[in-house]
Amino acid sequence: VTEALAMMDYGPAPESAAIAMDWLKGRAFGHFINGAFTKPGESFAVTNPATGAELAQVAQGSEADVAEAVKAARSAAKGWAKLSGGQRARHLYALARLMQKRERLFAVLETLDNGKPIRESRDIDVPLAVRHFYHHAGWAELLADEFPGMRPHGVCGQIIPWNFPLLMLAWKVAPALAAGNTVVLKPAEFTPLTALLFAELCVEAGLPKGVVNIVTGDGRTGAALVASDVDKIAFTGSTEVGRLIRQQTAGTGKALTLELGGKSPFIVFAEADLDAAVEGVVDAIWFNQGEVCCAGSRILVQEQVAETFTARLKARMAKLRVGDPLDKSTDVGAVVHTTQLERIRGLVDQAVQQGAILHQAPVPNGPGSFCPPMLLTDLGAANIANTEEIFGPVVTLMTFRTPGEAVELANNTRYGLAASIWSENLTTALDIAAQVKAGVVWINGTNMFDANAPFGGMRESGFGREGAREGMLAYLTSDEASGKERKAPAAVSALPGEA
Ligand code: NAD
Repeated sequence: VTEALAMMDYGPAPESAAIAMDWLKGRAFGHFINGAFTKPGESFAVTNPATGAELAQVAQGSEADVAEAVKAARSAAKGWAKLSGGQRARHLYALARLMQKRERLFAVLETLDNGKPIRESRDIDVPLAVRHFYHHAGWAELLADEFPGMRPHGVCGQIIPWNFPLLMLAWKVAPALAAGNTVVLKPAEFTPLTALLFAELCVEAGLPKGVVNIVTGDGRTGAALVASDVDKIAFTGSTEVGRLIRQQTAGTGKALTLELGGKSPFIVFAEADLDAAVEGVVDAIWFNQGEVCCAGSRILVQEQVAETFTARLKARMAKLRVGDPLDKSTDVGAVVHTTQLERIRGLVDQAVQQGAILHQAPVPNGPGSFCPPMLLTDLGAANIANTEEIFGPVVTLMTFRTPGEAVELANNTRYGLAASIWSENLTTALDIAAQVKAGVVWINGTNMFDANAPFGGMRESGFGREGAREGMLAYLTSDEASGKERKAPAAVSALPGEA
């Protein structure tokens, strides 16, 4: 029986979409406000990027919808914050457990909605999202001891992108709730479905009404949320929109954290294990179609091994299987939407016009927004493929001579999210790690995430951390930090001679 089950789960046949299609049933979804779904008004279609087929109709949130959701979150805020950390932890544990029970539905739904390979949604996205809820249930229990004198912000507006829809929800919702905040979350317009499934779980888990609210829609809904009566905005998305939000919230007293784009270096020294580094590139830039904010998108390889490394990388790239995301042997699935595919193609065309040489894996046939893995060589640091975040399966390769030159090239970017360093000499690796401007540095590894490791950027990659103690701090404040009820010290309030 075990063997038969293993065959079912890991066998060669594509995963069936039935479990998710049964759940969707051609539904039209409203928003999730105050513990219930609203009647859908103005709606838009959510499609499967691998086929172009419509999956569901989802509501376009208006200013009034956002205001209603914020009102519900505000009414729930006092009661939720009053619960003991242990009581809130029970709710987080329940949510984690229910997500685990529905893990297959979550994984298939995520793959249909986003285009990512089922292997990734099943083995990475869903388990990491679950872990985030368990981890933060632990923080809720420890809150009073670990963060004395701190309190929640109140109502948090949370806006997330489409590349890891459920995982980004978990990164936002779990710490906010653990700290005692209530939330209004806006998922990305391309990928709102797993958030809507999560809403159902909130009801099933008996979460008090209004603690979690989900309003779907595009950037207009996001802008309405930023402008609404929330106490904090947490945003993950592009640097351009992050900049707008920073301007919009400036001077309003709203707390803000921004997790933005990246152009992360992947540095390979001559003494590195080159085969391991080649596999590292696969994980760095071809995982999730390269739609990863911390993707290692700029390979910097030491001159004396560049030729060997490039040859091995090209051979490995040619073997990657691009195609049906539900097929368990697929390495690279569909890009989230045709608009994103066009953006990737446009940037690659410009890079080639600027002199880069393009190498690519075979292009898959048939419909769907598929993009082959690509490698750009013979380009300078100013080439557009080295300066712009492509957010697709496209990596550039440049060479360096000395460690100093590697650092200079690595830091030659407006971003500072992540970096990956490959060397069998740990002294070199640690020395370089300290000089690279990045929020996260991996040595002989890449794209490793854990709920207990803070994640976030510097420079134009944003500020604030998600995960671990630092991530909890982003959802807590104190009277002193928020500027409320700040009492002037006695010595200052009493002028000389007045006492
Ligand atoms: P995006 O900025 O266009 O959209 C992100 C979210 O913001 C979506 O929900 C969108 O509807 C909303 N939005 C759009 N305009 C808005 C506005 N004016 N006001 C408020 N909300 C608005 O980004 P995207 O194309 O969805 O996502 C890709 C980007 O996200 C990439 O640049 C990537 O690097 C970044 N990203 C960063 C991280 C991180 O942790 N640093 C993680 C994932 C993605």
